[in-house]
Amino acid sequence: MKIKQWILNMPEYIPGRTIEEIKRQYNLKEVNKMASNENLYGPAPGVLEEINKSLNDIKYYPDSESREVRQKISKKYNISIDSIIMGNGIDQIIEMICEGFIEPEENIIVADPAFLIYEKSALKCNGNVIKIPLKEFSQDIKRMVDSVNDKTRILFVTNPHNPAGTKIDRQEFDYMMENIRDDVMVVMDEAYGEYMNDEERIDTIKYLSRYNNLMILRTFSKIYGMAGLRVGYGISNPLIISVLNRIRLPFNVNLVAQKATVIALENESYINKIRSEVREEKERFYRILEENSIDFIRSYANFILINTGRKSDIIIEELLKAGFIVRPGKNLGMPGYIRVTIALPEINKRFLETFVRIFNSTYKNQDIL
Ligand SMILES: *Cc1c(COP(=O)(O)O)cnc(C)c1O
Repeated sequence: MKIKQWILNMPEYIPGRTIEEIKRQYNLKEVNKMASNENLYGPAPGVLEEINKSLNDIKYYPDSESREVRQKISKKYNISIDSIIMGNGIDQIIEMICEGFIEPEENIIVADPAFLIYEKSALKCNGNVIKIPLKEFSQDIKRMVDSVNDKTRILFVTNPHNPAGTKIDRQEFDYMMENIRDDVMVVMDEAYGEYMNDEERIDTIKYLSRYNNLMILRTFSKIYGMAGLRVGYGISNPLIISVLNRIRLPFNVNLVAQKATVIALENESYINKIRSEVREEKERFYRILEENSIDFIRSYANFILINTGRKSDIIIEELLKAGFIVRPGKNLGMPGYIRVTIALPEINKRFLETFVRIFNSTYKNQDIL
């Protein structure tokens, strides 16, 4: 077999370790996964029942246009159904955007670090990637905009950022939309957007009428608690959406996922509940980390980046032995940190006890971090 060389050169996405894998490796009965930013409360009431009911219909193909889901989304935000595209997660929409708009040698602009799928998708289209380092853990919006050149087609921003957890301010967003060429698409990846409250969140949908080059990405994987079903969506002007629809595989969102998503959208109060629970739990993390003088980044999402210093690897290994999977920052472009997903209260409590104990004994001889 002749293998395309550029594929071998692509950066590799390193997923979080699985619960089964860690149970086997360390001979553990209980393992908690706090590595992939899932909502560990799970989906809204009614979703699982709907999934069970939908199983009768899996002999049929799903609706290729996910009409019921798109109708619900269009009502929720008061936007036209033609401005919505569904994907097998945001991941797939990112791929479609690159396929649709990147010619060889054209480029995208991303933060460094950023969600790896942006880069991988651009590389698959023989595009280039311009990376702009974070500035004090936030995306350097001004520099990202200033770095646009005549080959730039897309600027990817993430709000809140993953893995830093920081947000983009409204003034920065305004600056970006005002100052970027209108033939450069601005992709606002809002995978964790629902974790912000109304004052913190930018109402990006309001900007769609002013800016034809804006694309908003949202997902049912995060606050909606349905990561395993793979449903995400994009909102943009109907022309961009029609281009993506030409590329989209016809049955990209499966039947069970579509049914479940409709019910999830009927239960928005559940999302509000999750948001406030997670905010409370984040306060617990902040309090305990501060009490122990452990450095971390304040987060607008459902995860926290914690500074574990040069003994990160040892701490991660000890956490695994104790039954906690966290994400090594070095796999996310943040060496010396771990990214920890906020879990359920009891698990958070146990995690923090265990983590503080491990952290303190790892650095017990007053080693420098
Ligand atoms: C999790 C995540 C996604 C992926 O979402 P899916 O809908 O599950 O594909 C997209 N962007 C960011 C920044 C994420 O963290």
